[in-house]
Amino acid sequence: MRKVVGVLAPITVILVAWALAVKAESYSDATQSLIKVIPIVIALLAIFMSIWYQNSNSFYLVCFILISYIYISISQEHLPMLVEAVTMLSILFPVNVVWLSFSKERGIISTYGRNKAIILLAQLLWVFINIRIKSNVPAGPGISGIYIGIKAPAIVLYIMAVGILLSCYILKNQYMDLIYVAVLISSVISFYLSNRLLLVAIFTSAIFVIMVIAMFDVSYSLAFYDTLTGVLSRRALEQELLKLGNRKYYIAMVDLDFFKKINDCYGHDIGDEVLKMVASILNKTLSKAKVFRYGGEEFVVLFTGKGYNEVMNQLERARRAIERRPFIVRSDNRPKEKPEKITNHSKGKGKINITVSIGLAQKTDILKTGYEVIKKADEALYKSKNSGRNCITSV
Ligand code: GH3
Ligand code: MG
Ligand code: MG
Repeated sequence: MRKVVGVLAPITVILVAWALAVKAESYSDATQSLIKVIPIVIALLAIFMSIWYQNSNSFYLVCFILISYIYISISQEHLPMLVEAVTMLSILFPVNVVWLSFSKERGIISTYGRNKAIILLAQLLWVFINIRIKSNVPAGPGISGIYIGIKAPAIVLYIMAVGILLSCYILKNQYMDLIYVAVLISSVISFYLSNRLLLVAIFTSAIFVIMVIAMFDVSYSLAFYDTLTGVLSRRALEQELLKLGNRKYYIAMVDLDFFKKINDCYGHDIGDEVLKMVASILNKTLSKAKVFRYGGEEFVVLFTGKGYNEVMNQLERARRAIERRPFIVRSDNRPKEKPEKITNHSKGKGKINITVSIGLAQKTDILKTGYEVIKKADEALYKSKNSGRNCITSV
């Protein structure tokens, strides 16, 4: 559901911008003047949010787009300047978007952040100098019919950029890549309409709105998703429990067996990878339930609207899926020093066999709150641990 909304949001913004653009030139002068300052207002909001969330890539991209918009605005009166601005910016734009999309997030005013700023400022200065040079070229009658839309090299770069970012979105499922595609689409429309500032203002505003949506999404993810494993966070669980009220539901506690030994033998980083793998198996095999990271190596699974047999079947399927899928330690992941002891759960050098113990409890009239159900599930988990682990106990 959230994914669908995430995909629809930027598409809707572009369609709304399109609908506004169709009628824009019939608006009153006052409205048209207002529309031309809207990109600056939304850009300031986006800049504020990117500083707040320390999102350097969004910060620098918004600054670059805002300055590009200002260049196009000041070049409106003189066609050779406008052609120069559009030609240069339309080449730099897709290159910068792809570069920033791959660039690691390392703060705005860190050394990395400053390097990004220097590269972008150098580009913008170069564009500015070239635009200034063109201000001396007379805008003779021959030039009035000149084609302003973006040129072949930029089109090729745009197609490549959209291809790369869409592939990344499909392969890595990173929402920000989709946002960058929407930004590219809006920007290409702006460049094609660059001699009509009103329309450029509308599509530039659309870009900034899309960036703001992306930053809201990031803040939502930080609050409600566990950053290591990608499953729902404990905070999301707390919110979910408040919503449940008196409905009947099941809660399962899932705990990795002998996980401390995995950390001790292979290191914390491998431990993290194992946690990610288990979370991903739980998410896939329990697709009809909600999986939360409760803390450490413990997960909570919430089943609503399901009968006991169905819940047990699903949990059993998840338990077996984890048991059957060993974690393969690649040689470059191995700890530098050979571990002294190898867990009795690991067979062979680079293979870690993982199991989980599960405790299941049902919401009843006696158990008043979700926390009481979790406590019961924890007691059931304790019994699973005492019964030799790698099993499910329900109470
Ligand atoms: P049991 O079968 O009884 O559950 O044994 P266990 O070793 O899994 O349980 P124990 O509670 O003794 O140890 C849990 C370990 O999980 C201790 C802690 O270092 C590790 N751990 C907790 N959170 C993380 C994490 O985010 N990453 C990694 N790598 N380890 C974690
Ligand atoms: Mg454990
Ligand atoms: Mg534990």
